Amino acid sequence: MPAPQCSSCHAARAALRRPRSGQALCGACFCTAFEAEVLHTVQAGRLLPPGAVVAVGASGGKDSTVLAHVLRELAPRLGVSLRLVAVDEGIGGYRDAALAAVRRQAALWDLPLTVVAYADLFGGWTMDAVARSTAGSGRSRACCTFCGVLRRRALEEGARLVGATHIVTGHNADDMAETVLMNFLRGDAGRLARGGGLGSRGEGGALPRCRPLQLASQKEVVLYAHFRRLDYFSEECVYAPEAFRGHARHLLKLLEAARPSAALDLVHSAERLALAPAARPPPPGACSRCGALASRALCQACALLDGLQRGRPRLAIGKGRDEEGPPPPPRDPRSAPGPAAAAAAAGECGAACEGRCAQASV
Ligand code: SF4
Repeated sequence: MPAPQCSSCHAARAALRRPRSGQALCGACFCTAFEAEVLHTVQAGRLLPPGAVVAVGASGGKDSTVLAHVLRELAPRLGVSLRLVAVDEGIGGYRDAALAAVRRQAALWDLPLTVVAYADLFGGWTMDAVARSTAGSGRSRACCTFCGVLRRRALEEGARLVGATHIVTGHNADDMAETVLMNFLRGDAGRLARGGGLGSRGEGGALPRCRPLQLASQKEVVLYAHFRRLDYFSEECVYAPEAFRGHARHLLKLLEAARPSAALDLVHSAERLALAPAARPPPPGACSRCGALASRALCQACALLDGLQRGRPRLAIGKGRDEEGPPPPPRDPRSAPGPAAAAAAAGECGAACEGRCAQASV
């Protein structure tokens, strides 16, 4: 049976049915509609004011590739300028290839690219060194816990380095729905309380962050990349299979089979959640070491690094350094591994991770 006509242009044959609405569109009309919806998300949410210098968290994966491409299309209408900021976590066999994709995109789209590396920012620690330190096997569930916290910090540092006023990340509706599910499953009322909305406005001196693709489904992100013939990196991070997020993803797929709008419904649920005042996190202060936003004496990144240096990564998660006494002298992260631990000690990351495991709370 021949494909139906595109219901928008009525000229071409439809190439897809939109997963949620069932609307039959040709590739060109779908891409136009997708870009218009992202524009509406940004404008209605007042996410990026005219004149903003926007750091796009670029990982080479499909989400950040689509985000950078769409924002590049929309930049003249929004009146913003773009910078690509990529984070090199130091993950052998994964990140090098992903960064090569980011470099190709930057060259193709003529966008300035800055790469910031964990090793440079965090006293020599790479994710591979963290993995050795926390598990000895190099494949610990703890990796994403550490990586997410450090990645968030690295992206902030990179954005400041390029003079950005705003940060955008490529989280889509599925990422956000998985995060909501994870927070429910953990009973993490604090994260649920602050997890709604399209981003953060930049409390405590942090740069404002937002997620322009938050209302776009993963399927449509993939379709957009397909019809625009975007070149992206699609391998999974070597540490991702251990992540708790995989269970939430599986659960979401089951829910979507019965209710196709489940992902977006969860995103909107998180926006509307009104938790009791006691469940809300305390107002953030400043980290006593680096000055970043912190709900304890040390921010999460400083607490994690502190624990790694002390060879006590488990204690570093979920506890302020002020609870642990004075730090010992730093040790070389490339030397003998520290004690095993940390994996289940905390939530996963807050990164814009294309390894698909990250906790999408920017
Ligand atoms: Fe980091 Fe993402 Fe890999 Fe986890 S999956 S270790 S958050 S890059």
